[in-house]
Amino acid sequence: MIPFNKPFLTGKEAHYIYQAVYSGKLSGNGVYTKKCQNFFEEHYGFKKALMTTSCTDALEMAAILCDIKPGDEVIAPSYTFVSTVLAFVRQGAKIMFCDSCKDNPNIDPDKIEALITERTKVIVPVHYAGVACDMDRIMAIADKYNLLVVEDAAQAIDSYYKGRPLGSIGHLGCFSFHETKNIIAGEGGLLTINDDRFIRRSEIIWEKGTNRSEFFRGEVNKYGWVDNGSSFLPSELISAFLWAQIENMDMIQTRRKEIWQRYYQGLACLADKGLLTLPDMPEYATNNAHMFYIVCRSLEERTRLIKHLKDHEILSVFHYLSLHKSGFYTSHPESRPENCQELTTIDEECAVLGLDLVNCDRFADCLLRLPLFYELQDDDVDKILAEINRFYEG
Ligand SMILES: *Cc1c(COP(=O)(O)O)cnc(C)c1O
Repeated sequence: MIPFNKPFLTGKEAHYIYQAVYSGKLSGNGVYTKKCQNFFEEHYGFKKALMTTSCTDALEMAAILCDIKPGDEVIAPSYTFVSTVLAFVRQGAKIMFCDSCKDNPNIDPDKIEALITERTKVIVPVHYAGVACDMDRIMAIADKYNLLVVEDAAQAIDSYYKGRPLGSIGHLGCFSFHETKNIIAGEGGLLTINDDRFIRRSEIIWEKGTNRSEFFRGEVNKYGWVDNGSSFLPSELISAFLWAQIENMDMIQTRRKEIWQRYYQGLACLADKGLLTLPDMPEYATNNAHMFYIVCRSLEERTRLIKHLKDHEILSVFHYLSLHKSGFYTSHPESRPENCQELTTIDEECAVLGLDLVNCDRFADCLLRLPLFYELQDDDVDKILAEINRFYEG
């Protein structure tokens, strides 16, 4: 069976973890935490980078930093992972779901302004598949209405928008090192802070609401409870693991891009015939080969293709059921723009709420992800390509 994903080990992970263990400093903010954070700051120009235990946690830190209060509104795509919005819902935000672009799952900048009200505080663009959202447009809207922008860059490490690293453009950025991402730590994440206003507070929230970081730098002579926060910093073991991945990032990225190109070329013929759609790469975006997906013509066809591939020992997966139709969102009026109890079906509710997110629903029904991981062999890719071609052309 060709799996959908296989976490890649560079070989140095256990060695660095061993070093961290026997260094005697196991908790966070030690040598490996600093090595990782310095790398990200220097390599990508983030003003500050803080390791977190997940991207979900980085998003939760962002929601606290944005000072989200009950009733505040946050604009996010509906075609995304739950954490993108859950971090804000935990602070009491109402989520205004925005549709995806027609040609790719990223938030459609043309549809953002209609969702802005007096209560809007934050826009959360998600760089789907590591492909940049149109950040100039989004930042211009944020400027015009005095909003904050938190980039959900979970999938977007080492990817760029007009030459600028993703995660460095919004006020805050959030990355994931979950084992399904390009570089991994099992579970792990990173918060990037690009606006000076948030730097001091970010460290305090990170360190359980204390000014411990300042104390250890000798800036204050005692530390105490000064703000909101939680235990967001990971142990040294997580950063030690990640360091081995960072050291090999170029090698990992090069191989992932080769696999991506092989898929793209191998399916071009079917795309030319209109049988499926290949990923759209806007000219302002780079490709970090986080994911290879195709868009089928219907839900029914996608279901048959998944089965065909599975019958031939290939695991493909779809993801993201539209969040605006999720059980949580539809049963929690406090997280929605307006109350509507009288309506019977989700589709009716969505129509009344103006949540007719046609592109989002189409990607939820028709997008299919193919296996993509460092150790996937060319032979495997060719086998997958052959089966997809056979499915469409008999
Ligand atoms: C993976 C992912 C997350 C969550 O990352 P974790 O590190 O697992 O918390 C959030 N948003 C998007 C878009 C993701 O792909």
